[in-house]
Amino acid sequence: MGASAGQLDSVDVLIVGAGVSGIGAAYYLQRDHPGRSYVILEARAASGGTWDLFRFPGVRSDSDLHTFGYEFRPWRSDVAIADGDSILAYLRDTAAENGIDRNIRYRTKVLAAAWSSAEARWTVTTEDTETGERGTVTCRWLLSASGYYRYDDGYAPDFAGRERFGGPIVHPQRWPADLDYAGKRVVVIGSGATAVTVVPAMAPAAAHVTMLQRTPSYVLPVPTRDGMNARLTRLLGARRAYGITRRMNIFRQVAVWRVCQKYPNAARKVIRDINAKQLPAGYPVDEHFRPPYDPWDQRMCMVPDGDLFRAIREGTASVVTGQIETFTENGVLLKDGRELPADIIVTATGLNVHALGGVTLTADGEPVQAGERVVYKGMMLSGVPNFVFIFGYTNASWTLRVGLVAEHFTRLLRHMDDHGYGTVTPVADAGMPTAPFTTFASGYIQRSIAQLPRQGSRPPWRNSPTYSADVKVLRRGRVDDQALRFDRVRDAVPTESDDAPVRGGQL
Ligand SMILES: Cc1cc2nc3c(=O)[nH]c(=O)nc-3n(C[C@H](O)[C@H](O)[C@H](O)COP(=O)(O)OP(=O)(O)OC[C@H]3O[C@@H](n4cnc5c(N)ncnc54)[C@H](O)[C@@H]3O)c2cc1C
Repeated sequence: MGASAGQLDSVDVLIVGAGVSGIGAAYYLQRDHPGRSYVILEARAASGGTWDLFRFPGVRSDSDLHTFGYEFRPWRSDVAIADGDSILAYLRDTAAENGIDRNIRYRTKVLAAAWSSAEARWTVTTEDTETGERGTVTCRWLLSASGYYRYDDGYAPDFAGRERFGGPIVHPQRWPADLDYAGKRVVVIGSGATAVTVVPAMAPAAAHVTMLQRTPSYVLPVPTRDGMNARLTRLLGARRAYGITRRMNIFRQVAVWRVCQKYPNAARKVIRDINAKQLPAGYPVDEHFRPPYDPWDQRMCMVPDGDLFRAIREGTASVVTGQIETFTENGVLLKDGRELPADIIVTATGLNVHALGGVTLTADGEPVQAGERVVYKGMMLSGVPNFVFIFGYTNASWTLRVGLVAEHFTRLLRHMDDHGYGTVTPVADAGMPTAPFTTFASGYIQRSIAQLPRQGSRPPWRNSPTYSADVKVLRRGRVDDQALRFDRVRDAVPTESDDAPVRGGQL
């Protein structure tokens, strides 16, 4: 079982991060390899990651929890689009029920990890985030479940005149608990998932909320409650109902994504019709809800029961599309001369992507820059031994991929145990053409694409586009791939007299 916090110097598997991904990975690891020691190192003082950090009004999922929840633990509610606190409680209950919480070491930030082939181990440098004290832990496997963005600061462009504005300027990533917006005029800058959440959440109490966007996003109403799940639960019980709802929702997500990719014009038209029905007669739908890109080229914004549209209909919120010239003493001046009066400005302008939790990796003294490596099955890096990372879906629930990667990882461990291998390294063919990690066009991804590893031109180096494609590779596919180099522990450092390392699939 996992090593206890505070007296740790060596474990089999070291997991970085106690969010959805780290807790999920720990579950599969201890289920499939109960004899292995592991620890989760978490930089913050609490678990939950995203769902503990974000505290802005209305914070919620935009995925349905029947797919965002873990496969192994039913989401026992027909509320499909859930608030942040409920998701956090679900994660922490999962960790507590399975004893995972005992294996989390808090306030422990991973700074660096150095692989040594001679020792067939990682040496991980940590920092106590309260005292600054450094420590080291060694492990056979390093699993990065550190999410995809920086925790210390969100992304905000350098708006001109920022210092002139008299009121609070708030980023949703650092929401002040005591911010009083009752009766205040609020301008929310942005058009992504956070902006469309915070606008209707603030609208009932604020004097008025204006969503100021440079470019529109696709916004779709989705039901908060899943009526079918409620009926299935009554008939079949929570566990079976969860399984069925989950499969149906996965199928629907993949189908919608495929239709959008294949018939973008038809998809645009359907979305526009839905939007027009939700908005007041004569509303300039195209000006505010018609993006210049195709549906699902960027993540779509989901609004539960159309709450954003309702706020617009009721006149408590409005949308303005335009470019900011400068902040002023009293609000925001646009390039076209319009002025938006504000008492509070919310910069819902996004996240700063951070590859692998900012951990400095080296392998046998050589720096490992993620951006210079090729991904293997979307979960390992070329030339980096005994290293797995979890990066969830951008076109479906993140968690769906957590389960698949963790399962594949535990099968790989079993295979290595069975054959007496101590290390495994993905080896990419030299000269294979590579492409960016994703074609997803969202600003936060494109701003940081150079930090992310690259993908190759063919499997197993090409990322699967959908969950169903990943099921074939990660759940049903073999683990002993030709692209993997396995070494026995004793010949982890090959010498001329040692046997040549074995390649997967040749035994
Ligand atoms: C407001 C918001 C709403 C979202 N809604 C959805 C949604 O509905 N559906 C969806 O699929 N996705 C959604 N996402 C994306 C979401 O982040 C992921 O779905 C998921 O929560 C990521 O989980 P994670 O565990 O991989 O990363 P995180 O939740 O980011 O957790 C990572 C953890 O690792 C820790 N960590 C990072 N670096 C280090 C280090 N060097 N040392 C130690 N610890 C470290 C962090 O402190 C954190 O606790 C949303 C994101 C946001 C911001």
